[in-house]
Amino acid sequence: MDFSFTHEQELIRASLREFCEKEVTRERVREWDENLNFPPQELWDKMAELGFFAFSVPPEYGGEGADMVTAMVAFEEISKASTALALAVGATVGFGARMLELGSEELKGNVFPQLAKGKVKFSLGLTEPAGGTDILGAISTYAVKDGDDYVINGQKIYITGAHVADYINTVVITDRENPKRSRALSTFMVPTSAPGLDIRLIPKVGVHACGACEVFYDNVRVPAGNLLGTLNNGWYELLNTLNPERIGVAMISLGLAEAVFEDCLSYVKERHAFGKPIGQFQIIQHYLADMAMGIELARNLIYKCAWLCDNGYPYHVEATMAKLYAADVALKAATTGMEIFAGYGYTMECDMQRYWRDSQQMVFSPISQEMSKNFLAQCYGLPKSF
Ligand SMILES: Cc1cc2nc3c(=O)[nH]c(=O)nc-3n(C[C@H](O)[C@H](O)[C@H](O)COP(=O)(O)OP(=O)(O)OC[C@H]3O[C@@H](n4cnc5c(N)ncnc54)[C@H](O)[C@@H]3O)c2cc1C
Repeated sequence: MDFSFTHEQELIRASLREFCEKEVTRERVREWDENLNFPPQELWDKMAELGFFAFSVPPEYGGEGADMVTAMVAFEEISKASTALALAVGATVGFGARMLELGSEELKGNVFPQLAKGKVKFSLGLTEPAGGTDILGAISTYAVKDGDDYVINGQKIYITGAHVADYINTVVITDRENPKRSRALSTFMVPTSAPGLDIRLIPKVGVHACGACEVFYDNVRVPAGNLLGTLNNGWYELLNTLNPERIGVAMISLGLAEAVFEDCLSYVKERHAFGKPIGQFQIIQHYLADMAMGIELARNLIYKCAWLCDNGYPYHVEATMAKLYAADVALKAATTGMEIFAGYGYTMECDMQRYWRDSQQMVFSPISQEMSKNFLAQCYGLPKSF
């Protein structure tokens, strides 16, 4: 067994870390959070110069086609610097690049080179107001063929980054006659400039700099050539993106926990009570030890998933565990961080409250902790409980 990273991966880590220290500073992250500012295009351009977006683009379309471990090394540094930035770029890389691989040669030839340059942004439009866990039961947005186009009507909700996206990969019903929803869905790459599309930002508790939106489709027309994958097979094709997405969200959670740990470690050395640094009290030391252990375990699980993926092994069980566990580690770390920082942690000038707010999102999205456990139990042969 070899747990080490390659020389190239270490170089990528070092260059992303240096980039984040310079460009994704605490001050900037705080300002984005306070003003609900999506990370600016200028930052996407600089990340593209570093080759970040090219990792997810196949070499034949001007990318690097990096393996999952390498992509995760880069993503860990981004996630540590800013949860919002990680989610923002993660949506484009995770949903955009992965689903575009299912598109026509023309779509891939047009969009992949732009994606590698950081010039296009993607969202995934799956969840609907009737529910996110039971997607197949809740979905009602549909598309009907009309000449060379499909016409979409319906509504999506909580769509990350839709307000700034160039495209929303929208999952719709394309066979309304089929009672088996899993065989009736398709995904279309919908340009946000399409007439009939209305996008509204939803005020939310955390990850302010990466907004989530309601999206209304009123006779939105998309060329049939914007279909990603095979007509009516969208559900099964979507499932292929879920495991990488779970690893990505696990990494965002891990980055958050690592940032919490670093802040806590510094603070307990500086803050005094009863004439000593609070880091001298055993209970505070135990808090830090627990956090460090959770981080180490989550990190090992995430990189193991990435390794399994790169080496062609199944990893659906591990990817679900990684999302579940890392989200829990982040939530617990941020909650403990609030205890350690106490009064100061509760003020808006302290980053701990942001970590704490941000950590809540990974608990239920993209899959809730409860549903993750349902899935794991079923993987071990237990009957479906719902
Ligand atoms: C900020 C944010 C960003 C998001 N980004 C996106 C995005 O980019 N694209 C997108 O398509 N969606 C997105 N989502 C949607 C997200 O994936 C859903 O919120 C999530 O799947 C949960 O769905 P729900 O909120 O409707 O909860 P519900 O489905 O209503 O679930 C409510 C509760 O019931 C529990 N529950 C439901 N069924 C079961 C069961 N069988 N057994 C046990 N417990 C159960 C759940 O675990 C949960 O605790 C986002 C959501 C938010 C809030």
